[in-house]
Amino acid sequence: MDEDEIPGTRHAEFEAVDALLAEHGGSAARVGFDRCVLYVTCEPCIMCAGALSVLGLKEVIFGCPNDKFGGNGSILSVHETGCGACASAPAPGRTYPSRGGLLAERAVLLLQLFYSAGNPKAPKPHRPLSDRSMRVAAVAEGQSWLRAPGSADDADAKATRS
Ligand SMILES: [Zn+2]
Repeated sequence: MDEDEIPGTRHAEFEAVDALLAEHGGSAARVGFDRCVLYVTCEPCIMCAGALSVLGLKEVIFGCPNDKFGGNGSILSVHETGCGACASAPAPGRTYPSRGGLLAERAVLLLQLFYSAGNPKAPKPHRPLSDRSMRVAAVAEGQSWLRAPGSADDADAKATRS
């Protein structure tokens, strides 16, 4: 899927689940979510944690906590309780192990960059950008890990290093 085709308002967990389903003919049984480990930048929100519970993920590993809506320990612990309260779920959700803190500082910086630049695909009206975006951009400058491999920035970085 081309980046321009990716909806800007869907949570990453749903994008990952839908991509797997598309690769396996729409069949959750063929995907085998119980064999899948999900790596995500930010702790899944409560809604996503419930969906992951219903799907029966093997494990979830995330970068930074989600202090407002986290469903894997920050606000609720859906990964430990399952999603049994979801009345419309086809079956009670399962529990799954979840760990946070993987490259946490980088995860926070990625999210700060994303939100400081604004989401051009977000519904209008959109909140105005603040001066904070300049500070985040300054922090991001010089972070070579932010450059996509093969990008012009990456080529510049390689040329500079050699
Ligand atoms: Zn979510």
